[in-house]
Amino acid sequence: MTIIYKHNFSQYNKMSSIKEQFDSMKKQCPFCKIISKELESNIIWQDEICTAFLEINPATKGHMTIVPNEHYSLFSATPPKVLNHMFKISHKLIEIIKKSMGKTSYNIFIPIGQISGQMVQHAALQIMPVDNEEYIKEFDVDSKTFDQDKWKESHEKFKQIYPMMIANIGKKKEPIPEDQIIKIVKENLQLIEMYNTDPEGFKLQATILNAQLRNLFEGQDIDKIMIKANE
Ligand SMILES: [Zn+2]
Repeated sequence: MTIIYKHNFSQYNKMSSIKEQFDSMKKQCPFCKIISKELESNIIWQDEICTAFLEINPATKGHMTIVPNEHYSLFSATPPKVLNHMFKISHKLIEIIKKSMGKTSYNIFIPIGQISGQMVQHAALQIMPVDNEEYIKEFDVDSKTFDQDKWKESHEKFKQIYPMMIANIGKKKEPIPEDQIIKIVKENLQLIEMYNTDPEGFKLQATILNAQLRNLFEGQDIDKIMIKANE
């Protein structure tokens, strides 16, 4: 466990301006601007966790985007409880689409990463109601040829990691005991250095930006632990 942490934290050396970098990223982010109402938009739902609005350049009639209010750059980096809430809200919005537009077919689109079509570096889930005229023809898989080799290669890769990953799904995560976290931190002096250099930046990593640190510190008083680890 220690070795894993040591290895993976190495990329977070430059901590001095994390908070400034994050704030400037948020300032430039169009979704953050929509959430804060700095940018005019057609918000149809907003609560303390997420915001839903009609797309400015809709792919279909009624196309809407749901985003977490906090700036998580990727859907895959968004905490599960935030994602759960976003799905709950999307379920309600789909009901509204059905009742108001009479559309019962829709696509839920979640691009993760630029190549997949993620245009804004802020996690988002999109609902696109569709009807016959608007059906997206590119999803017509029948016309594609099936590549057996590619399929086999992917399957072999999945088989290696799948049993381990699947065994942990649905298991309630036990919080890591405080003394265990302190031990991990003490064994990774880099973390203490990161905290001492920029406590606010470190806390930002441990609460929003870095999923691994988030897991380690979940539900904990970060200052208290880091002060103890410093002793
Ligand atoms: Zn944002």
